[in-house]
Amino acid sequence: MLRLMVCPPRHFGVEYVINPWMDGNVGAASPERATEQWEGLVSVLATRCEVIRADPVPGLPDMCFAANAGLAFGNVFVPAVFSVTQRKPEIRHYAEFAESLGLQLMPLPGGYAFEGEGDALWWPAPDSDPALWAGYGVRSSLESHRGLAEQLGVEVISLRLVDERFYHLDTCLVPLPEGRLIYYPAAFDTRSIQLIESRVPPERRIAVAESDAMQFACNAVRVGKTLITNHASADLRSALDGWGYEVITTPLDEFIKAGGAAKCLTLLLEQDVPENFDERPAVISPIRSRTLELSGHLLDAGIMTLALDAITLAGGSFHLEQFRAGERRDQPSHARLAVSAPDEEHLRSIIDQLKPYGAASVVEDDATLEPVVRSGVAPEGFHCTTIYPTEVRVAGQWVKVREQRMDAAIVVSGKGSSASAVCRLMRDVQTGDLIVCGDSGVRVGVPDLRSREREFAFMSAGISSERRVEGVVEELALEMRRIRARKGRIVVVAGPVVIHTGGGPHLAELVRLGYVQALLTGNALPVHDIETNLYGTSLGVDLRHGAGVQGGHQHHLRVINRIRATGSIEAAVRSGVVTAGVMYECVQAGVPYVLAGSIRDDGPLPETLMDLIAAQRAYADAIADAEMILMLSTMLHAIGTGNMTPAGVRMICVDINPATVTKLADRGSVESVGVVTDVGLFLNLLVRRLAAQDPGA
Ligand code: NAD
Repeated sequence: MLRLMVCPPRHFGVEYVINPWMDGNVGAASPERATEQWEGLVSVLATRCEVIRADPVPGLPDMCFAANAGLAFGNVFVPAVFSVTQRKPEIRHYAEFAESLGLQLMPLPGGYAFEGEGDALWWPAPDSDPALWAGYGVRSSLESHRGLAEQLGVEVISLRLVDERFYHLDTCLVPLPEGRLIYYPAAFDTRSIQLIESRVPPERRIAVAESDAMQFACNAVRVGKTLITNHASADLRSALDGWGYEVITTPLDEFIKAGGAAKCLTLLLEQDVPENFDERPAVISPIRSRTLELSGHLLDAGIMTLALDAITLAGGSFHLEQFRAGERRDQPSHARLAVSAPDEEHLRSIIDQLKPYGAASVVEDDATLEPVVRSGVAPEGFHCTTIYPTEVRVAGQWVKVREQRMDAAIVVSGKGSSASAVCRLMRDVQTGDLIVCGDSGVRVGVPDLRSREREFAFMSAGISSERRVEGVVEELALEMRRIRARKGRIVVVAGPVVIHTGGGPHLAELVRLGYVQALLTGNALPVHDIETNLYGTSLGVDLRHGAGVQGGHQHHLRVINRIRATGSIEAAVRSGVVTAGVMYECVQAGVPYVLAGSIRDDGPLPETLMDLIAAQRAYADAIADAEMILMLSTMLHAIGTGNMTPAGVRMICVDINPATVTKLADRGSVESVGVVTDVGLFLNLLVRRLAAQDPGA
């Protein structure tokens, strides 16, 4: 006969708030009604199974929720480890009671939170070994599932709970024999729902409605083919009837004020252990953990919060093993944390997400190197780089990766102290190159966000709208002057809108004043820039009056033809064909320019690189050592450049469309700032600010 443990609600009451159900209900539960309802439940149970009463203890108002006492398997009892302080004293009393029943205590290793049957429900399986459905994410920890699996030798199916109202698995899932179950899907994250769906075919699962779930329909006690619960709608009853189940409802609303009902009030005292169970091979849980370290401005730059949220949102769990806070503003903090995930694949994906925050694995293995077997194809598990400075461990030494950029592979060459590492695009890897695979032996550094913030306050601004443009321009002008003074490099990436909006003369002025060390653009900007010089129009529009001129639509083609005739823009400037404008100033000042071709190009101009790979290389060469990149109204070239720029380079993206600047800001670089405004006005303002700050120039 089934044995259940219960604990009379003699000291029950809502005396604190440890779940959303208790909120607003402190002092609201009636002891008389609770006792009456509890006796009602027990009388229903007593006719169907053996009910054993534990002694309640004064001062422990939740002790009547016996399900949280622990988990029984054969003659073994795994005692709970409460995550909430208020319930911790219950553990000792329940453990003593379990021992008095002859059960052998088997605490889980590590002291991880585990709230008993509240988060671990047996899935009765007559033909196969019993399995546990287990919940984590609100009260119990994922790490406890590993202990359960390996200590009891059973399969544990981990489900992540995401709705605080359904804080224990027994509030939203009832496993039934014959591979069936009842559940409330919205209580779980997507991975868990997929897991349930992959394990249980549609005809064997019933998804209950929110109205049933909110009345604790899933908090049901099963005795054979009977389910005893607080509530079941007509739909749920009829679905269960189809499976041959009788549903008995018994009111338990006084307990719902504390977040529990029928199942919470009972603990299954034994779960049959299959024959010869001890002879089965040991179970190895798929849950994986890795110890990581984070250092930097973890608190004041908010990195710690971002990193911990990323772990939780990705379905993982963490245990902060050590935290040393920087005591002054200029001191970094250090954290060491064990991160766990339901399996290796999820753990890897979490670690990938933590890399931009500077997480490094504590176990300092050498990087795993695998050779390229076919040029242009990286090994399957190659480590994908980020924009952040990276080091790889080769023969016990940390080697800085050169030419850092995102979305590349890392090629390692040489040995010992002569080892070197460099970022390579997959198309550039050669047969025999040794490529870093996986994450071990790789550490990624996060720049000191705050020091930069001090230097360049608006960088923390993210995206600046019209209203803030003047302030941004003021600071940008100051920074550009500083870079010019120390002979640093500012690279401008610009699209033809600069010319159409009347920004051409201002950009030309920046070149002339020495604020541009390279110009990256396409075919159109030089075409329209030279068109303005030769015809006074840009795409056939007279820039002084803003109106189209007769035959203007042909101007840009005539320009291209003229330049093709002279051989190059430089030749056109030198021979006096082109006498002013952005390209004129570049040639005069010896500022290199790269014209990257695109499918929409007319002509093209003789210097436009129509070989995309050659164009990408030329861009990458041009931005090497740049301190600042000014991206002016070109989504295509700005994003192309952003992808090859390492962290630490300040990127200012000016565009009228917030989506363009957001896309660049989203690449995770803290140094990028977006300015949503008209580029012509922006350049005008910038040149004026520069002049105002430097009247002598
Ligand atoms: P793009 O779509 O990549 O970028 C244009 C950007 O300008 C957009 O993000 C848009 O929001 C922004 N913008 C529009 N008006 C603005 C304003 N007033 N102020 C600020 N931002 C504004 O297009 P692109 O870079 O202009 O051109 C893509 C490619 O096509 C380039 O390589 C270019 O050279 C080529 N192209 C060639 C020709 C030609 O050969 N005739 C003509 C046009 C473009």
